[in-house]
Amino acid sequence: MFDVTRYAVAADSIVEAGRFLYQQGWSPATSSNYSARIDAGHIAITVSGRHKGQLGAGDVMVVDLAGRPVQSDCRSSAETRLHTVLYEVFPNVGAVLHTHSVKATVISRMLPASQPLKLEGYELQKAFSGVDTHESVLSVPVFDNTQDIDALAEQTREWFRAHPEQPGYLIRGHGLYTWGKTMADCLRHVEAFEFLFDCELETMRIRP
Ligand SMILES: [Zn+2]
Repeated sequence: MFDVTRYAVAADSIVEAGRFLYQQGWSPATSSNYSARIDAGHIAITVSGRHKGQLGAGDVMVVDLAGRPVQSDCRSSAETRLHTVLYEVFPNVGAVLHTHSVKATVISRMLPASQPLKLEGYELQKAFSGVDTHESVLSVPVFDNTQDIDALAEQTREWFRAHPEQPGYLIRGHGLYTWGKTMADCLRHVEAFEFLFDCELETMRIRP
């Protein structure tokens, strides 16, 4: 069982995040999925196939950390396991956002296989929790897209167990996953990633 009040707070934060991310053009149509932690064993997550700019309370449901619906007949996002793995690996994570922006999609296709995107020397890296200097290196792994979500979930679990300080990853030709202690932290991370992807793509354009 889960606390209904905590669920309502989590669901509200998801609905609001959807409005913002849709307006930015980072979650077109029914793409993307969002979640927020309710307690140690439950998260609120978007129902599969809902328009992210028009989310209402009925578009958010509860699943346990195995991805099973709790008190709901709805089907959660096909990528639910990619969310629950992050809550398992990081007990202090409170929100996970997955977006499908043009820039995340394009940059993930520009990078050679098995080479993470290295972001360094940008002042805005300080927007990520725990980073207090531009002299750090953010290493964003790019996983190949697949419809085998369980296999991808295991790949991400392994990578982030080994690199717990890194705040996100890309799926090739698909989009971004990032997380934070709170929904506000998580939204800030999406914004920072989008800015940094923009800078990287602009640099490639000037200096191919
Ligand atoms: Zn997706």
